[in-house]
Amino acid sequence: MIRIKNSKLEELANTHYKAILNYVTKSNDKKLAKINLSIKSCFGDEWNFEKLIKAKPKELEILANIYKFKCCASVINFETYYGYLNNYTDKKFITDDKKRYRAYELIKSLDINTCPYCNRNTIYNLKYSKKRTSELDHFYPISKYPFFGLSFYNLIPSCKVCNKIKLDKADKEYINPYDERFDFNKNAKFDFKIRGVYFYRLEKEIKLKCKINEKTSIEEKKRIKNNIKDFKLYDLYQNHKDVVLELIQKEYIYNESYLDELMQNYEGTLFKNREDLLRLITCGYVSDEDLHKRPLSKLIKDISEELGLSK
Ligand SMILES: [Zn+2]
Repeated sequence: MIRIKNSKLEELANTHYKAILNYVTKSNDKKLAKINLSIKSCFGDEWNFEKLIKAKPKELEILANIYKFKCCASVINFETYYGYLNNYTDKKFITDDKKRYRAYELIKSLDINTCPYCNRNTIYNLKYSKKRTSELDHFYPISKYPFFGLSFYNLIPSCKVCNKIKLDKADKEYINPYDERFDFNKNAKFDFKIRGVYFYRLEKEIKLKCKINEKTSIEEKKRIKNNIKDFKLYDLYQNHKDVVLELIQKEYIYNESYLDELMQNYEGTLFKNREDLLRLITCGYVSDEDLHKRPLSKLIKDISEELGLSK
């Protein structure tokens, strides 16, 4: 799993809110008042439509708990609105500057290339047909938490596999990829063990695992384990041991003197700097912000660090 890091998240959440608000208030002024009344009656006077749509992961958690313990009979259901957002052809949501706003535009503005839950599959938008290859996972499923159907931080761009695996599981606690309180990138790392001398031709002699930083809080550990277990990450990543083997081979080939030689010969022409050269060799990305750019970047980064290939 990787974090969704985007410096404009609050701005994007605001655009998202405004586009929905424009539709809600367009035909009927009383609609918004009704929605607000419903939200207040369930969650308290301090909550309204805007706050619900922009609620951060930590706030969604608080609201989900209130909902669990309180009977919110009149709570608003945003499923129909979500249908508009998710429809390729719908023109119901329009931004303040009169541009169409759908899930396609939401994904585009997030600028994320791979699924944050698995980092295995790409979730690009298709530029020419204007379609998506992604799905929007409701972190809190719409079937159990209908009022989170449009909340910005509850909509997780994901691949079809992960969305299907997760489905309605909400009673277990996972890490929301937007949640700044948890750092999966730092606290959960891929690791490997060589179990036999023929590992370079026998994949089974390489054991791939995921280790959790000992200093991680109990709460975060629990969530990381839930993510790994329920998204079948351990199982899925066993199919990528060939990548680990390649990195081990590269570590031998690209020793320090060879790296120096390449730097002397090609720095500034074939690559910008040492970081760029290492990216070229490992076929991954080094910084946390860039992990989303290519599938398996998190695996490549962790194993490269373990091998000393990233310095
Ligand atoms: Zn995925």
